[in-house]
Amino acid sequence: MPDSCVDKQREYLLSKLYPELHKAIPAKAILTSIEELRVYECDAFTTMRQLPLLTVLPDSIDQVIHVMRCCYDLDIPVVARGAGTGLTAGSMPVENGVLLGMSKFTRIHDIDLHNRTALIEPGVRNKAVSDAVAPYNLYFAPDPSSQLACSVGGNVAENAGGVHCLKYGLTVHNILELDIVTAEGERVTIGAAALDAAGYDLMAILTGSEGLLGIVVAIRVKLLPKPASARVLLAAFSSIEDAGNAIAEIIGNGIIPAGLEMIDQTGICAIEELMHAGYPTEAAAVIICELDGSIEEVEEELGRVISILEQLNGFDIQVSDNEAESQRIWAARKAAFPALARLAPDNYIMDGTIPRRALAQVWKTINALAAEYDLLVVNVFHAGDGNMHPSILFDASCEDQHRRAEELGTRILELCVQVGGTISGEHGIGLEKINQMCLQFNDAELRQFHALKKAFDEKSLLNPGKQIPTLARCAEFNHMHVHRGEMPFPDLERF
Ligand SMILES: Cc1cc2nc3c(=O)[nH]c(=O)nc-3n(C[C@H](O)[C@H](O)[C@H](O)COP(=O)(O)OP(=O)(O)OC[C@H]3O[C@@H](n4cnc5c(N)ncnc54)[C@H](O)[C@@H]3O)c2cc1C
Repeated sequence: MPDSCVDKQREYLLSKLYPELHKAIPAKAILTSIEELRVYECDAFTTMRQLPLLTVLPDSIDQVIHVMRCCYDLDIPVVARGAGTGLTAGSMPVENGVLLGMSKFTRIHDIDLHNRTALIEPGVRNKAVSDAVAPYNLYFAPDPSSQLACSVGGNVAENAGGVHCLKYGLTVHNILELDIVTAEGERVTIGAAALDAAGYDLMAILTGSEGLLGIVVAIRVKLLPKPASARVLLAAFSSIEDAGNAIAEIIGNGIIPAGLEMIDQTGICAIEELMHAGYPTEAAAVIICELDGSIEEVEEELGRVISILEQLNGFDIQVSDNEAESQRIWAARKAAFPALARLAPDNYIMDGTIPRRALAQVWKTINALAAEYDLLVVNVFHAGDGNMHPSILFDASCEDQHRRAEELGTRILELCVQVGGTISGEHGIGLEKINQMCLQFNDAELRQFHALKKAFDEKSLLNPGKQIPTLARCAEFNHMHVHRGEMPFPDLERF
């Protein structure tokens, strides 16, 4: 559409929507100038951008209901946004749609010590929950590396994970009840404050639904008691195989660490340069393993883990003796992505999850693919649950590099599916991985997803175009694969 028509359509929609919104929402909470809207044009996947029609920043559930009703009546799409730390363009606005910012919902309403739960608003930052309940020796288990900034509403929408999810589960395992506002503007409670809720398990459907099924306006989270003891261990390896096998061996021996992470050499060096945490820069890989529980349990498991690591040629094994040392090791790991940001202007972070036994093989294949595409790929990941985060470093201002980075990303996700894994472990699909959904699911499965979406959002106004590809899109994507003359999956035998 020519620019003048786009502007006219925007003006028309604004003239219809603004007065309606303004009936219940103050002008200062409705942003319409291009300068103000720029802030909301992308999430942390910065290579995709789109300005919204307007941004509205409600501060009460009644205001959210009002926004949804206005948009429903005028058929205007709505994209919810938490803190905008998503890595898949999930909260990127849609053209001529409303961006519904939830950043004013930051209250913690009720900390219930007897039931070990807290009722919170969706804009509360992830770490703020654990900070608020720390005086009671409790914490909220999901801990994405972005936990200083990301919102719990965003965690619910993405079913976020983190270091401790190996033992304590993803967001879905750590919440009991949600209040959502539907596309029509109705408030609905899902789940229950008690352990089991009658009826269908809509909680599991809503968690990870990426803002496509409802706007989360309240969350009852579960709180866990802090373990009596927690020790963190860092071990170096001179080969990827030994490190990968050590991960599988630890779990195979019946030990479930609180966290089990792996970093490759480029990652180690980048982190060390930023954080000076004592990571061994000569190692091909390091494993970080946290054990928690009673003092006796932790001591016993520590001995077993060290013996496994030594048998698999682990060296320079450091074990934390106190909280400060544990923090030193973890803080450096959590700074991995800022550290990588110093190596290249852009970073395409993959999120494939694979069966643990395939870790070393997939890791080596990724390195071979990176060489084929002449790009640097750094591996920093939650190895214990097979959740890989290969980060493709590139410069988006160079068109060819950008194209190669995207193609390499696709090949990596294909590889994950090929070995029996999935294209997303915790970051969601958004727009970034929408084509790869066509690799993971067949038409019949996608039709079920569309039917579900329709049941919640008949007019398809909530975050349209994200997460679930149309069948036509998949037909085109799959045709392009054949057209390029490519095998749908990389040939593992070549590497
Ligand atoms: C440096 C870095 C490290 C990261 N590490 C991890 C990690 O270890 N584990 C992990 O899982 N993720 C990680 N992430 C990704 C990201 O932080 C998570 O996906 C997080 O849950 C997003 O929360 P947010 O508040 O920023 O959501 P946003 O980015 O604002 O939105 C994400 C999605 O949620 C929807 N949404 C937001 N709020 C609501 C709501 N109230 N109701 C309905 N839908 C809503 C949006 O529409 C969008 O689809 C990382 C990101 C960065 C930048």
